[in-house]
Amino acid sequence: MLNFSFQNTTRIQFGEGQIASLSKQIPIDAKVLVTYGGGSIKSNGVYDQVVAALAKHTWFEFSGIEPNPSYDTLMKAQDIIKENNIDFILAVGGGSVVDGSKFIAAVALYEGEEPWDIVSKQVRITKALPLACVLTLPATGSESNTGAVVTRNGNKLPFSSPLVRPIFAILDPAVTLSLSDRQIGNGAVDAFVHTMEQYLTYSVNAKVQDRFAEGLLLTLIEEGPKALAPETSKDLEVRGNIMWAATMALNGLIGAGVPQDWTTHMIGHELTGTHGIDHARTLSIVLPAVMKIRKEAKRGKLLQYAERVWNVTEGDEDSRIDRAIELTEQFFEKMQVPTRLSHVDLGAGDIDLLVEKLTQHGMVKLGEHSAVTPDISREILVTAL
Ligand code: NAP
Ligand code: FE
Repeated sequence: MLNFSFQNTTRIQFGEGQIASLSKQIPIDAKVLVTYGGGSIKSNGVYDQVVAALAKHTWFEFSGIEPNPSYDTLMKAQDIIKENNIDFILAVGGGSVVDGSKFIAAVALYEGEEPWDIVSKQVRITKALPLACVLTLPATGSESNTGAVVTRNGNKLPFSSPLVRPIFAILDPAVTLSLSDRQIGNGAVDAFVHTMEQYLTYSVNAKVQDRFAEGLLLTLIEEGPKALAPETSKDLEVRGNIMWAATMALNGLIGAGVPQDWTTHMIGHELTGTHGIDHARTLSIVLPAVMKIRKEAKRGKLLQYAERVWNVTEGDEDSRIDRAIELTEQFFEKMQVPTRLSHVDLGAGDIDLLVEKLTQHGMVKLGEHSAVTPDISREILVTAL
């Protein structure tokens, strides 16, 4: 196992009815900014629950944070923060609202001239407003991690700081019942790929992390399709298992002391930045191709994955690996996400620009061995056609 430092300070408040606990969890003298997206929280009753819980607090609101939150939208929150001396941010929504609120919290106390530098130049922030969240879409893990992704003019870029890790996150599986099938599929696939990016590298004999990762993959494979099947889709146990799996997939635990890949995410960000494809739908297209092109570097772990996750034990090594990749694709199909660029109407002619943007964004040595050069990213995209 590699050396590691692990700390996750987010208090998870899990279960039905937990939104009411906001009244106690946010300091009563705080000036709170409630941030949210395009209005799903108004139609599913989450907004009303938050309003009821904050009855004794002083609070303001900022809405309109869109999927793949844009810099321009997020910067608009700064006026309301300054005018009202906001000192606490409560994000209510999916990964986009939580990520966007992390950027808002960082910019509020940023002393540099150009806030976009936090993302484009990875300028380290030294302060941020305290932030917490009510999660409405299990997928990203943003509710208890240090990362966020922000988009400006087609450039979709990540930043990370322990200062923006949510203080607490409310995970009520019942609020996910209003999700569309598309968002349920996207969420389970995003969590699956987060797990794979930290698992499918090379072995460092990290037995605990491997077993946790395999447990999360198995949970998502078992429960994901149930959340889409009419007879089980409203089952709160199903929703709860998916929600907790998604949080655990990217809260630092399975990634501690192991090599990490993230090639699929970085190529995926270019697909979203350039073509607006949903985050998870870029991952389901790119991951199978990464597994194929990086087969030799990942051979040992691919065989372990085939056996422990898919119970594939027959045949020679290559056929076991190929079968595991095929089964991964079939799982994605069950979750109703695309697995090829052609499924989202992209073709060979679109690859040059994607590779050019990866290079512009410094994504030139991706993967656990820093071996994924722009040429290999091109091969991955060609394989994904
Ligand atoms: P999202 O973009 O936050 O939300 C997608 C859609 O789902 C929105 O239209 C939203 O509507 C709707 N929605 C959310 N909760 C709902 C509910 N309970 N009922 C009905 N509709 C609901 O989706 P996401 O997949 O969670 O987040 C994706 C973003 O996170 C991407 O930008 C991705 O790059 C990023 N990401 C971050 C990390 C990280 O570690 N920080 C990791 C992976 C991905 P409203 O706007 O109306 O609420
Ligand atoms: Fe993701």
